[in-house]
Amino acid sequence: MTMTTSAADPHTVRRALEGARPFPFWLDSPQAPEPAPAFEGSGRCDLAVVGGGLTGVWTALLAKERDPARDVVLLEADRVGGQASGRNGGFCMATLTHGYGNGLDHFPDELDLLERLGLENLDEIERAVTRYDIDCDWRRVGEIDVAVAPWQVDELAEGRDEMLAAGERVQWFDGPAMRAEIASPTYLAGLWSQDGCAMVDPARLTWGVARAAAGLGARICEHTRVTAIEPDGAEIVLRTRHGALRARRVMLATNVFADLLGAMRRRVVPVYDYALMTEPLSDAQWADIGWRGHQGVSDAGNRFHYYRRTADGRILWGGYDAVYHFGRAIRPEYERRRATFVKLAGQFLATFPQLEGVRFTHAWAGAIDTCTRLCQFWGQAYEGRVAYALGYTGMGVGEARFGALVGLDLLDGVANERTRLKLTSTRPLPWPPEPLCAGVVGLTSWSLGRADAHGGRRNLWLRTLDRVGLGFDS
Ligand SMILES: Cc1cc2nc3c(=O)[nH]c(=O)nc-3n(C[C@H](O)[C@H](O)[C@H](O)COP(=O)(O)OP(=O)(O)OC[C@H]3O[C@@H](n4cnc5c(N)ncnc54)[C@H](O)[C@@H]3O)c2cc1C
Repeated sequence: MTMTTSAADPHTVRRALEGARPFPFWLDSPQAPEPAPAFEGSGRCDLAVVGGGLTGVWTALLAKERDPARDVVLLEADRVGGQASGRNGGFCMATLTHGYGNGLDHFPDELDLLERLGLENLDEIERAVTRYDIDCDWRRVGEIDVAVAPWQVDELAEGRDEMLAAGERVQWFDGPAMRAEIASPTYLAGLWSQDGCAMVDPARLTWGVARAAAGLGARICEHTRVTAIEPDGAEIVLRTRHGALRARRVMLATNVFADLLGAMRRRVVPVYDYALMTEPLSDAQWADIGWRGHQGVSDAGNRFHYYRRTADGRILWGGYDAVYHFGRAIRPEYERRRATFVKLAGQFLATFPQLEGVRFTHAWAGAIDTCTRLCQFWGQAYEGRVAYALGYTGMGVGEARFGALVGLDLLDGVANERTRLKLTSTRPLPWPPEPLCAGVVGLTSWSLGRADAHGGRRNLWLRTLDRVGLGFDS
C-alpha cells in the first residue's frame, strides 16, 4: 500500500491490539440463534443441502419458494454462518464476475446480461430481506474505491469511464472532495459506485435466510458433518457420523472445506483473509472522520484494504494480506496470525491518524475459495443428481444467492438464460499440484505487492498471467 503519511508507531499499534478477541465480530452477537439439533439416524428427503453458509441457506430457501412441497434438509458440519459467511466484510456486491474489469476479461460477450442479472440478484436479496423481515442492518449505500497512490488515480478514472459508458451510476471525488467525504490524509481520489453494493451484517443475513427457509418447512441440522456421498439406485446417500440421509438431489455448498466428490479441490485453493474490528467510536471521533454515507470503502491497490462502518459505530478493517498454506492446508491456528494483525492495525492508523488510541476488540480470519478466474463456477456429478457452486474468491456475499439459483436450475434440469451463460457452463483452469501451487501463489502475491510499490507496473509474471487469463486476489 502506498501512503502519504508515515507509518504508525509500533507501541501504539501493539496497544491498539491488546485485548482483541480472536473471534469474528459478527458471530459474537446476542442475536446468534440457538443451535439446531443434529441429524441422527436415517432419513429421506427430496433435496439435501450440504453446508450452511450463504450458498447453502439460499439454496434451501429458494428450493422451498420454488416448490413448497419439496422436502428439504440442510446439513451443516458446525454452525450456520460459522465460516466465511459469518466472517466477511459484509460488502454485498451486484457483480457476478468479481468486478467489471474481470468480467470484461473473461465474459465480454455476455457482460451486459451478467451485469443485469447481478443487479437483479442484489434487488432480490433486498426483497427477501424485507419480505422475511431479516434484521441485518441492510443498507443500499454503494462502495467507494479510493486511490492512495498517483497511479491508482489513473486506474480509477479509467474504471469510471468504462462504468459510465455501461450506464452505471457513479460519482467521482477528486482529492479534496474525497477527503471531505471521509477524512483520511491518504486519499487522492475516489469513485463511488452507488447501485452495485449494499452493506450488511453478514452473519445476521445468513441466520435470517436460514430462519426464512425453516419457516417454509426446510429442516436445518447443525453439528452434522457429511463424511461421504455415494449413489444408491435413484438416490444419493449422505453419510454422517450418526446416520445416513438419502436424497433425490443434493446441493454441495461446502466452499473450500470439503471435497466430497474429489472434483472440486483442484479448482480452488484456500486463501486466508484477515480482519480487525475497532471498539465503537465516540461522537467526537466520528465528527473527525465524517463518512456519514456509510458506504463500503476499498483502496485501489492490487493488495487492497476493505473497510466499513457498523450499526454500533465501529470500523471493520480487513484485507491486504492473502495467505496460502502449502498443500491447501486449512487449520484453526492459521486464523491467528499476529504479524498480519500488526500490519493491518498499523495501516489502519496510517489511514486514520486522528484515531490514535482506539482499540480493536476483535481480530479474525477466514478461508476464501480462490479460483483462477476469480468468480464462481458450478459442477454436477452422478448424472446431474448432485450439483455444487463455489469459487467466489472473496466476493460471495451477493453471488452466493446466484450460486444457489443456478445450482437449483441444474438440479431441476431447467434450461434458461442463466444456464446458457458461458459463466455457468464453463469452469476455471485448475491450480497446479504442489509444490508448484505454493510457488505460483507465492510468486503472484509477491509480484502484486511489488506492482503496488512501483507505480502499479506489472512484472513479466503478472503480464503472463494476464495474457492467459489467470488471476489471484483476496
Ligand atoms: C475475512 C473475509 C472477508 C470477506 N469479505 C467479503 C465481502 O466483504 N464481500 C463478499 O462478497 N465476500 C466476502 N468474503 C467471501 C464470502 O464470505 C464468501 O464468498 C461466502 O460467504 C461463501 O459462502 P459459502 O456458503 O459458499 O461458504 P461458507 O460460508 O464457508 O459455508 C460453507 C459451509 O459448509 C460447511 N461444511 C463444509 N464441509 C462440510 C461437510 N462435509 N458437511 C457439512 N457441512 C460442511 C462449513 O462448516 C460452512 O459452514 C469474505 C471472506 C472472508 C473469509
